[in-house]
Parts: sequence; C-alpha cells; structure tokens
Amino acid sequence: MSQQKPLAGRVALITGSTSGIGLALAEALAGAGAHLMLNGLGDADQIEAARARLQNEYGVQVRFHGANMMQPAEIADLVAQTHKAFGRLDILVPNAGIQHVSPIEDFAPEKWDAILAINLSSAFHLIRAAIPLMKTQGMEGQIGGRIVNMASAHALVASPFKSAYVAAKHGLAGLTKTVALEVAQDGITCNAICPGYVKTPLVEAQIGPTAKARGISEEAVVRDVLLAAQPTKAFVHYEHLAGLLLYLVSDAGESVNGAMLPIDGGWTAQ
Ligand code: NAD
Repeated sequence: MSQQKPLAGRVALITGSTSGIGLALAEALAGAGAHLMLNGLGDADQIEAARARLQNEYGVQVRFHGANMMQPAEIADLVAQTHKAFGRLDILVPNAGIQHVSPIEDFAPEKWDAILAINLSSAFHLIRAAIPLMKTQGMEGQIGGRIVNMASAHALVASPFKSAYVAAKHGLAGLTKTVALEVAQDGITCNAICPGYVKTPLVEAQIGPTAKARGISEEAVVRDVLLAAQPTKAFVHYEHLAGLLLYLVSDAGESVNGAMLPIDGGWTAQ
C-alpha cells in the first residue's frame, strides 16, 4: 500500500523536527510515504515516543540524530548517518531555528552568534554535505533532490527588536537563491518557505519578552504586534505549510527553483 504514496521510498532529513513546524512537517512527509531522519533538541523519552509513533502510524522508517546545529562536525555526521542508514537523501529541510527579542543596544552578542549559527550557518553546512549525494543520485537518472529551507516572512521584511533573526533569515534567502543557481542543471531544486506567524512553542516564547520590550500586555502583543502585519488576523496553520512543502518536493514542483514563497496571510504584500 505504501508504494502508492507519492513519496514512497524517498528519504527526508528535517532538522528541528522535535517540535512545532518541524515535527508537523515530518509527519506530513511520513504521511506521504517518506522515510525520515529526525533531528532536534529535547527530552529523550519524548523524542523516542514521537519517532516510534511516526514509524508505527505511517509504516515508514524513522530515525533520530541529535546533532547540535551550532556544531558543523555534528551536522556533517547527521548527513553522513542519514545516507548510511537509508542509502540516499532526497529531501532536505533545514528547519531548526531559535529566536531572541531585544533592542539592538541590549542584544546579547552570544544570542546573535547562536541565531546566526542555528538559523543560517547550519543550512549552509547541511546543504554543503547533501549536495554531493543529491548530485550523484541525479547522475544515476533518479530524482536528484529537493532542498526546502524554512525561512520566514522575516526573510523578506523586518520587524524591530529581532536583528539577529531578521539578518539570519535574509541571509538564508541569499543562500537559497545561490544554491538554486548552482544546482539548477543537476536535478536539484532549492527553495524557501516564508511563513508568517504560526503558533508554535517558538512564537509562544516570544510573547512575554516582546511585551516587556514594548511595555505592553501579552494580549496586546498577539493582537497588535504578532498579528498586526498579518492581514488575515489569523495564525498560519501547520497544514498550510505542509501543503506547500509536499508540492515543492513533488514531481509537479520540478520547475520551482530559487523561490522565496510566503505563506503569511498577505503580510509581505504590504
Ligand atoms: P520550535 O521552537 O517549536 O522548534 C524549533 C526546533 O529547532 C526544535 O525542534 C528545536 O529542538 C530545534 N533546535 C533549536 N536549536 C537547535 C540546535 N542548536 N540544534 C538542533 N536543533 C535545534 O520553533 P518553530 O516555530 O517550529 O520554528 C521552526 C522554524 O520555523 C524556525 O526556523 C523558525 O525560524 C521558522 N519560522 C517559525 C515561525 C513561527 O511563527 N513559528 C514563522 C516563520 C518561520
């Protein structure tokens, strides 16, 4: 039965898939038949429970590697172990990310370094290690590969107090476009999804600090700050992101390359 699923037999590596968007997208990929390499931080028992649930529910192989996205050697090992375990790598989703909200004059330099490392440089290290594997698959006449970076509306526009995050996501846009040009004839595509606000643990964690930075209530942060720029006045849902991801990695997505694709309720149309 799994042979009829659109991604049956394909292998997907998605970082930051122990929580929020990454976990939801991992589930969507498993639902479409892809074998998975999960990655992220968190409680070992909870991660194992999520891994086992996805494997049992969707009948795909699901593994976990705890590489820290701040450590290039661990990232290289993550890609190598994925290839060793499954013999291929078709779909790469650099998704791990963190946030820190602060006026720039108080912005802790170590937070800047961590955000640039996790939200931007980890994608470079992942893609750098994955491309040779994908190119080889492409040369063998198979589907080369699909890279889908998890960017943000903040890859396209800025908001105050998020200097590192906005800089990292704008950097990810540059990386996405550059890689797309380099691999365009190798059967590989590289695109980025640019979500507006999705209610995940990452977003919930910034409500308090944003309230403090702006001197307003948490309710006001949700209404007047988070969703102020999102014309729909509604959070983006996981399913909306999953729909675009599954399109981009499908055969129909073959000509989409180097695109920054907003799913933001109209935020970046303004
Ligand atoms: P989340 O906090 O729920 O999940 C983040 C994931 O990244 C977790 O699995 C965490 O363990 C992992 N992670 C963090 N630091 C890591 C490290 N050093 N090494 C390995 N893994 C690490 O957040 P989320 O909202 O699901 O965010 C996922 C991605 O989506 C991020 O890149 C974020 O910037 C992006 N994004 C989120 C929103 C939103 O509204 N939630 C909007 C636009 C873009």
